[in-house]
Amino acid sequence: MGKIQCLPPHEAQKIAAGEVVERPANILKELLENSIDAAATTITIHVEDGGKKLLRVIDNGCGMIEEDARLCFQRHATSKITHVDQLEEITTYGFRGEALASVAAVARVTLHTKQDDADGVCITVEKNSITSVTASSCPTGTDITVADLFCTIPARQKFLKKRETEWRHLTQLVHAFCLSHPQVHFKLLSESKQALNCAPTASLPNRCAQLWEDGTHEWLPIEGTHDSVSICGAISSHQSYRYDRNGIFLFVNNRWVSNFQLSRALLNGYQNVLPQGRYPSAMVKITIDPTLVDINVHPRKEEVAFLHPRITEQLITSAVRNALEERVSAQIAKPVSFRPAEDLPPVTPQPKTFVPFDFDSLPNDPFQAKEISEPQTQPASTAMAPTPPTTAATAPPGEQQTSVYTNSKVLPNESEHHIIGQYHNTYILIEHEDGLLIVDQHAAHERVLYEIFAQRFEELPTIKLLFPQSVPLNPDDIELLRDHLDLFTQNGITIEQRGSDRLSIEATPVHLKDVSISELIKEAIGWLREYTDLDREALTQKMHEKLRAQMACKAAIKAGDQLTIAQMRQLLCDLDQAPNRDQCPHGRPTSWLLRLSEIERKIRRRQ
Ligand code: ADP
Ligand code: MG
Repeated sequence: MGKIQCLPPHEAQKIAAGEVVERPANILKELLENSIDAAATTITIHVEDGGKKLLRVIDNGCGMIEEDARLCFQRHATSKITHVDQLEEITTYGFRGEALASVAAVARVTLHTKQDDADGVCITVEKNSITSVTASSCPTGTDITVADLFCTIPARQKFLKKRETEWRHLTQLVHAFCLSHPQVHFKLLSESKQALNCAPTASLPNRCAQLWEDGTHEWLPIEGTHDSVSICGAISSHQSYRYDRNGIFLFVNNRWVSNFQLSRALLNGYQNVLPQGRYPSAMVKITIDPTLVDINVHPRKEEVAFLHPRITEQLITSAVRNALEERVSAQIAKPVSFRPAEDLPPVTPQPKTFVPFDFDSLPNDPFQAKEISEPQTQPASTAMAPTPPTTAATAPPGEQQTSVYTNSKVLPNESEHHIIGQYHNTYILIEHEDGLLIVDQHAAHERVLYEIFAQRFEELPTIKLLFPQSVPLNPDDIELLRDHLDLFTQNGITIEQRGSDRLSIEATPVHLKDVSISELIKEAIGWLREYTDLDREALTQKMHEKLRAQMACKAAIKAGDQLTIAQMRQLLCDLDQAPNRDQCPHGRPTSWLLRLSEIERKIRRRQ
């Protein structure tokens, strides 16, 4: 007998379904599309265990009669087309006619449905076979429950991510539906607790405000048209921002899509107004002649390709710029916001003090990496103290004359630092035998602190805050953080939860006592969202690196801080002892040598 056998249809179906259904959010998408196609105006979604245990969608759409309800689980069962040619014209969402069949192949499904003029029916389906049909007293509409995802394919079950990850995918999806269908009332509940309740609204900025109800975002409408492309939407002003890209939603002909170029075009609109690593929240709806886009580049139609991408990109960038500019001019023109100077409380300049690190307070030389990496003393520190490799030694081609200071010590002889002074309250100028050495005070201090944080953490004093810092956060973010609180503890930051929407910072490392830790926490949430796909170990390592670099950045003296000669000297000594001293933890050079020969050539003292 030959080796090849045809799989029985129900087995083949599981494989096909597994391609469409990867995670609960894929199922929810199909169910929501069906509800929208059925003209529902209210849709309620129940989720249990991130959708792995249960997804239930209740709508008040047109419902089905018993005959249709029995048929809808069959492959290629659809009320939306009767002929393949119609695929081109279709404006409703589903058109494969196989969503429910795929869902029924990988989970247990219970359907209650009722058309206005008919009796309600309840159908249960398992492994694609109808197991019961009974009468139902449900109201007009459809109520579908999908339970125990992948119970038929245990191998797939273990690829599902943890509850929080799946829940985040589900909420992103529901946000997208809320934005693309502001006229629909959406309710979302997880473990019977309400997570969203978005009443219908005609205004996109209102819809955005419903979704991000923390009140920190101000929503600006955007619009633009060029030939056959038009865009509309709402964006957050530059005064409010997120630490991740999850607030960016793009729609093409009302279909939620991801498209790197379009996101970049949106971010370009914010260029120079948002700090690095900060992202806006935004929803952009693009309406375009369907023949100019290809939505079939992705099996689940999550991506889209444009025939003339530049037109749409430029339209988005300039619409964002215009909205932001208008916002700024409105602010300047607003008379109420203007207060004469004498009304304002006097500004007392707070001289920032640079507290040199007291190396003597540590038992050993702080940069003797070998000694501190003994595993028996600080397992956390040794596991998580990677410092970036020293790569600064080479200058870009053509810049040899004024190369970045190479891997030797910053100063040839520490006792003979001849500090000329501070330039622009930012750079320390040092007379060096080969030329003029320019040290960036922030980058240098950042490096010094980073190395201390990375290598000697356990030995650094932390202080318990007399007035703990309170950090308001949305419950979703708190849930995410709760899993990772040990990361902070290991870095000297003690956090406690205060209710469902608030954290409090109880203790910090002494270097950070005057720094706003809430900012750091929000940044950390952004990184955690960005790195969801890393495994636990890699995530921990990455998070430690990022946290320490950011703590160093926040605690370091800044450009603009005035320093005394003694402080400058101390900083240079500290830098001299630090490994990787040529670059700050973000990769910027800490110093630059302008060679005497170069100066003399420019001044034409020498050829
Ligand atoms: P498609 O949406 O591509 O037609 P589906 O498998 O998603 O395929 O659904 C099959 C059919 O079941 C739909 O065409 C529709 O007639 C019916 N149906 C599914 N969900 C609903 C719902 N929530 N309300 C009314 N009818 C529905
Ligand atoms: Mg469908």
